[in-house]
Amino acid sequence: MPSKNPWSFALGRVAGIQLQVHVTFAVLLAWIAIRTIQAGGGWSAAVSAVLLMVAVFFTVFLHELGHALVARRLGIRTLHIELTPMGGMAHLERVPEAPRHELFISLAGPVVSLAIALVLFVVLKVGDHLFDFEEIFDPARHPLAAVMWLNLVLGLYNLLPIFPMDGGRVLRAALAFKLPYPEATRVAARVAQVGSIALAIVPGKFNLVFVLTAVWLWMSARHELRDVRERHTLRPFSVRDVMVDEPITLSTGDTLKHASSVFVSTFQSEFPVMQWDSVAGVLGFDDLLKGLEKHGEGATVREAMRRDHEGIEVDSKIEEALSKLNENSEESDSVLMVLDGEKLVGVLPMSNLRELLKVQKALNRAA
Ligand SMILES: [Zn+2]
Repeated sequence: MPSKNPWSFALGRVAGIQLQVHVTFAVLLAWIAIRTIQAGGGWSAAVSAVLLMVAVFFTVFLHELGHALVARRLGIRTLHIELTPMGGMAHLERVPEAPRHELFISLAGPVVSLAIALVLFVVLKVGDHLFDFEEIFDPARHPLAAVMWLNLVLGLYNLLPIFPMDGGRVLRAALAFKLPYPEATRVAARVAQVGSIALAIVPGKFNLVFVLTAVWLWMSARHELRDVRERHTLRPFSVRDVMVDEPITLSTGDTLKHASSVFVSTFQSEFPVMQWDSVAGVLGFDDLLKGLEKHGEGATVREAMRRDHEGIEVDSKIEEALSKLNENSEESDSVLMVLDGEKLVGVLPMSNLRELLKVQKALNRAA
């Protein structure tokens, strides 16, 4: 699956899972090198500092790989693992809702980090290279000790019961053994919000990084709660229930002049573009305007259409459509082609799902 994040580049595959690295990571390495040289460390110290950081992030990658491999054993694919200077993230194709599965997947990462710390501890103890946490970045010390300390902190920090950290997911899974899933999420999200405030206050003095982390955690907890609620609200519906039946279509050979007249005389805002019997692209209103500016009204729809359209089977669950549409959330009105086998039977715009969600919310309030 191609990256949806234009600021990440693919570095390769491990166990069939793509590793993506955010460009700011390169900036971080450059910054570390420059700082080391400025501090009078010289080139070799700069190279060591950069290698140390790469080693640390390699163990962060192993943490994420732990999540991904356990998820795979439980039948959930990982789309890719992303590394940013803020940490790693394994993007699973779906959220595991069986509490037992979420528990195992969430614990796998911290277990890997703690195991790495333990192995390094033994190695360093044998070689008599252990020292205090305060000396962690002292270049006179053994570099592996820094990796050990950071993995210990990473493993324990991630076990704090704060969404979206692993411990928050463990808590939700534990609650979900007893409570319905949305309710378990609601309780875990509340705990996460209290916990994120505590994280900002506990250091005692104002620390911008802690406050920003707390804000980010708070928002993530809210986001997760909204996501879960939406998925549950939409659960009873299939794509067939919500799609626009028999959509008006355009052909690749139609002129933009013809397309313009179709746009202004109908309610539809995204048009499948057909070539013979299959969908070759999609033309939205913005695509039409861009095409008109660039090529004039005599040009064909083929020149103006987008080709990145995605299809979905007509009997799929709405949840699946929602995650596909959310993946393309940068576009204001993303749309899915609804297919019955090879045949186009409808279109499903994000705006329809939003309307359905609002209708269900109003009904819930009335109940
Ligand atoms: Zn993790």
